[in-house]
Amino acid sequence: MPDDDNGNRVVVDPAQCKGCHFCIDACRAKCLVPGDGINGIGYQPVRFEQRKCTACGLCYYVCPEPGAITVHKAD
Ligand code: SF4
Ligand code: SF4
Repeated sequence: MPDDDNGNRVVVDPAQCKGCHFCIDACRAKCLVPGDGINGIGYQPVRFEQRKCTACGLCYYVCPEPGAITVHKAD
């Protein structure tokens, strides 16, 4: 595991993301970035990049789509 990977993970469901970027703005660790593609409903889903995700859950709480973000804290 790389030094900057603490094992915490955020999974974004690209089909449910509306590309509002609220999660990008909320993440102080800058783990979320705009993705490359466009989903089936015309939005650009965000992508998770592991840096120093603390599994704080802020991205989950600011996301208006209940199923778009899941936070997994490392054991
Ligand atoms: S859980 Fe916290 S640190 Fe991790 S991506 Fe979401 S806002 Fe950023
Ligand atoms: S807050 Fe939710 S809907 Fe908005 S860009 Fe992030 S994952 Fe997508």
